Formats: sequence, C-alpha cells, structure tokens
Amino acid sequence: SLRVMSSIPPPECLFKDINIPNRQLFGPGPSTMPQVIGSTQAQPLLGHLHPEFVEIMSQVRLGLQYVFKTRNAYTLAVSGTGHAGMEAAILNLAERGETLLVAKAGIWGQRAADLGRRLGLKVEVVEVGDGQIVPLSAIEEAATRVKPAVIFVCHGESSTGIAQPLEGLSKIAHDNGGLLLVDTVASLGGAPFDMDALGVDCVYSATQKVLNAPPGLAPISFSDRAIQKIKKRKERVASFYFDALELGNYWGCDGEMRRYHHTAPISTVYALREALAIIAKKGIDTLIQQHLDTATGLYSQLGEAGLSMFVERKEDRLPCLHTVKVPEGVDWKGVQTALFQQGIEFAGGLGATTGKIFRIGTFGQNSEPEKAKEVVNKFIQVVKEQSKL
Ligand code: PMP
Repeated sequence: SLRVMSSIPPPECLFKDINIPNRQLFGPGPSTMPQVIGSTQAQPLLGHLHPEFVEIMSQVRLGLQYVFKTRNAYTLAVSGTGHAGMEAAILNLAERGETLLVAKAGIWGQRAADLGRRLGLKVEVVEVGDGQIVPLSAIEEAATRVKPAVIFVCHGESSTGIAQPLEGLSKIAHDNGGLLLVDTVASLGGAPFDMDALGVDCVYSATQKVLNAPPGLAPISFSDRAIQKIKKRKERVASFYFDALELGNYWGCDGEMRRYHHTAPISTVYALREALAIIAKKGIDTLIQQHLDTATGLYSQLGEAGLSMFVERKEDRLPCLHTVKVPEGVDWKGVQTALFQQGIEFAGGLGATTGKIFRIGTFGQNSEPEKAKEVVNKFIQVVKEQSKL
C-alpha cells in the first residue's frame, strides 16, 4: 500500500503565532489601514459570481467612477497591485511595433518605458532631472515628431515627490493620433484629478495609498476612445488575465452576460468597497482639499525646523507624498530606524533619490491635520537628535 511520508519536516516557525506589530505607515505606501476597512476582510467569502458579490462589484465600479471623476463604462479594478494596472493599461492600449512616448520624471516613467520595451513597443522617452516636472512643450515636441500610439505620464511620481500637470496633454495625444495614459497610483484622492475633464483615455491606481485599503487591486478606467482602439486591435492582447474586454465583461461593463474570467480576490474587493464608502461619505473634493491643506501646514512645519523640501516649486509638489532633503551630516537610515522603533514608518529615497531624501506619505486618513502634524513632529525630533550625534 502507498505510504504518505514527507522527508521535509514542517517549519517550526509556523507553530508560533504570526507577528504583526501595530505600525503607523507614513511612508510611500502601503498607508495605515483603518480597522473598519480591515475588518471587512474577515467577513465570509462569497463566490465570484454570486449575486451579492456581483452587487458589491457594481458598487465598487460606481465608487471608482466617483473618485476618478468619470462616466466611463469600462471602470473596474484589476486583480493585482499598481503594477498590474500599468501592465493592463500598456498591454491593451498599444500593439507591437507602435510607439509609446514616456514622460519620465523618476522611476515610474522608467518602469513604463521598460515595460513598453518588453512588449515590443518603440519607446521614446522625454526626461527631466529628479524633482522636476516634464514640461508640456517637451512632450508636445516629441509627440509631434514620433506620433505615439500612447503617451504615458505619472501624475504622482512617488520617487521624487512631483505632481505632473495634466492639462493640455490629452489634446497633444489626440492631435497626434494617440491616447493619453496616466498613472495615479500615488496621487488618486490626494491631488486634484478629473479624468473626463482632462480627457484622459486610461488611468490606473492602487488601493494601498490614499484609499487606505490593502494592496491587491488596481482600479482602472478606459475611455470610449480607448475601448474603440482595443476593439479594433490587429492582434489579440498578449495576456488573457489583463485583457480589458474580458475584464470588462466580468466586471459588468459591457452589458452582456457575465462570464467567469478569474476568481476575484473577494475579501480585497470588500475592503475596497469599504474604502470607497468612506470617501463617498466624506466627499472626494473634501478629501483632496484635506491633503492640500495638510501639505501646506507640513511645509511650514518642516521649514521652521530648518528642513528643505526636495521639490523647489510648491506648485510642482505632490500634496500627499512629501520629499524632504536629508540635511548635511544626517544619516537617513539612522532616522528611519529611530522612527521605526517608535512604531512609525518613514521612507528614504527610491532609485536615484536614495540617500538624498526622506519620503513622508500622508495618504488618506494619515492626512488628518493633527495626526500628520504629530507624526511630522516626531520626525523632526529624531532628525534633530541624529544631527547632534
Ligand atoms: N506607480 C507609482 C507612482 C507608485 O508609487 C507605485 C508604488 N509605489 C506603483 C506604480 C506600483 O504599485 P505597486 O507597488 O502597488 O505594484
């Protein structure tokens, strides 16, 4: 008879309880998750096509249309993190051999360009130094020259802390026969954004920043113009999982009978629904204004402490993720470690900004003025202590 015998012993660590400290997440994401959002994930599972779950998906779609400020039918959440949104967007919007024009102000432009090359696109990059926005004129010049199928811009460049202006970009994309794609992973709900008014053709985001939900879903929306292009593709999208039309059917965007496409991360959808409910009750514009006001307060608080912002011009700064220069003689790692010991997460730079800056995220509920002020004060104290060492 068959004997069931493993030569691999069960891991000792799994006999102990899981260790999850209660940490305040003030880095570039994930952000602190409120209990009310987390507890939805402990609710019973439903099937991915059960009528009650389908109803929750419809509510999520309406909530996402509200925060993106769009009436686009194809508004849904891709299963996966922000990167899944980026992959889904680029995979669907462009065909092999077409041109992707990337406005690069940090690592997220870099990532989009890299992805474009992996997908066999011709990639053209317009680049600026860290901490700067990409000028509209430079994007226009390149677009007129290369006639891109897609122009990619990152609204909230979280590696440097800039907010890329979006006005006028869709006209440039459309006049040159292309589509405008915007990454709002680090900015949605934390900086002014209006998909329809700006004429954006595709936008994606993530749940773990301003929305204060767990990572695992990438909200995305496609304009009618984008969907028309996708429907007329010569080749099918080289991914079943990320196919916008398949996803759109599962999410009830096309009015047809829903087909099984994949098993949605049910509990994460519950959490997103709760996060959107919080924003609907508060008001999206009130939330954005809160980020703007808190940012203004924080600039003076940091300025009074003798610290300098990395992004020179106030109007170029992302209101929900603040980049602060590491002062001369201060060990940024030491600051980070000391704050960590106090139960607070702050981050250093990313990519080219490593070692040069601190990144302070005041996403969603972390942008409540008193909370943000208190945490930033702790940061200032630690920086002062560290500079005395
Ligand atoms: N774009 C931006 C602007 C981001 O800040 C991030 C995450 N830091 C991503 C994309 C990727 O998102 P994720 O880590 O959720 O895949």
